[in-house]
Amino acid sequence: MKLSNSYIGLPEEFYQVVNPSPVKNPKTLIFNEDLADSLGIKLGNEEVLNFFSGNGLPEDSVPIALNYAGHQFGNFVQQLGDGRAVLLGEINTKDGTYDLQLKGSGKTMFSRQGDGRSALGPVIREYILSEAMHHLGVPTSRALAAIATGEYVARETFEPGGVLTRIAKSHLRVGTFEYFASRQQLSDVKMLADFAIQRHYPEIRETEKHYLELLKKVASNQSKLISKWMSIGFIHGVMNTDNFTISGETIDYGPCAFLDEYHPGKVFSSIDQNGRYAFGNQPSIASWNLASLAGCLIAFIDKDSDKANELATEVLDNFSKDTNQRILDLMCNKIGLDGSKEENNTLLRRLLKIMMDNEADYTITFRNLSKVLNNEPDGFLKEFLKKEEITAWLEDWKFAFGKENESHDSLAIKLDEINPAYIPRNHQIQDAIDQAYENDFSKMLEMIEVIKQPFTEQSKYDIYASAPKENQKVSRTFCGT
Ligand code: AMP
Ligand code: MG
Repeated sequence: MKLSNSYIGLPEEFYQVVNPSPVKNPKTLIFNEDLADSLGIKLGNEEVLNFFSGNGLPEDSVPIALNYAGHQFGNFVQQLGDGRAVLLGEINTKDGTYDLQLKGSGKTMFSRQGDGRSALGPVIREYILSEAMHHLGVPTSRALAAIATGEYVARETFEPGGVLTRIAKSHLRVGTFEYFASRQQLSDVKMLADFAIQRHYPEIRETEKHYLELLKKVASNQSKLISKWMSIGFIHGVMNTDNFTISGETIDYGPCAFLDEYHPGKVFSSIDQNGRYAFGNQPSIASWNLASLAGCLIAFIDKDSDKANELATEVLDNFSKDTNQRILDLMCNKIGLDGSKEENNTLLRRLLKIMMDNEADYTITFRNLSKVLNNEPDGFLKEFLKKEEITAWLEDWKFAFGKENESHDSLAIKLDEINPAYIPRNHQIQDAIDQAYENDFSKMLEMIEVIKQPFTEQSKYDIYASAPKENQKVSRTFCGT
């Protein structure tokens, strides 16, 4: 495994060189062979255990914790940084450069009151969720390994500890820019922006206004990301600016969750008391986060500050417009219709309203549309179909795609490629974690298999396609840090 580290070329204040802290009795729970292969990583079992527990370092690793700040729930925190993570290095592949990072690997100078560790539960959550997102076609960090440390961490109770190894295009965040901008260290902001352009958007390097272009690129990638979240019913839960990437990938899976029943106001995170990061708020929060980035870059966008403001505002306005349209397009695709037509948007809104009023399961409702076309409604939809409104809606829907000359068969196939049968359901994840805490990892491993093919129904995995029963419902998720 060849590692490089371009971040250490930046000034000292950008990071701390710090070794992961060894753990007592590590055990590899899972190593992602497919991902390792795609990255050209070839390691024996012993190396996997050593490197990804933090007990041994790959030969050419210079491990660092990254420095950053961030807005948490709207409040600025001047000093955050990797308090429980280290970047082992970067892997260069033909598809680009990826960070290899350990999470839960011990204290750093940014740990503040924390122990630098992670409980095993959040490691398993992040593993399952990030891999599911990848297979659902959403840009995301990925999980390379999960290790049980053999140690306990003190949370509300004592819990077994874990270390997650994750791969991301980078760990640059809006919060990294905010760290330097809030201290008026403008040459550092510029250096960081140049680094980000080099790493993620080299094609804009030679453009005249490349800092404005950087803002546009981040906006465009975040717009694509957030609209995908909305279309699959994903709630990140902690969209703080320190969890908001420059690459446009999903990172930092904390109290995130997938919707069971549809409601735009849905919040799972126990720490999100005002619903700032509710499902339906995610596009406007993304815009808020981009405005924070724009604030950091403003001095470099144009020498004339009025002009700079005008240009940045235009990017943010376009972001909102583009994201709304993208969401409509993706959502209309879920019902097989063209999102650019107003009448289709109206039809979509009608369906969402019916779903909300009936507390319909988000994933199951959309998945069952193809079954309606094949005249094979399963139990859930039969029950749901009794409602007069949905019967009328289905008629209008069939009429709408009839106008677009789409046959039932071809549309059913298309819909099944868009609307997943399997998402990592909150109650199943919780079960997998509970069982792992009893030393049984079979459910965790099974879920990781199921989510590899979210669009293909497999009868032996039926339970993973079902909605939770009332007594299984998870209503609150936790950061678990
Ligand atoms: P998060 O909400 O997980 O993105 O984390 C926010 C900040 O808290 C980051 O600076 C983390 O490094 C830090 N943090 C979270 N958990 C711990 C922990 N157990 N020990 C040290 N720092 C932590
Ligand atoms: Mg974070």
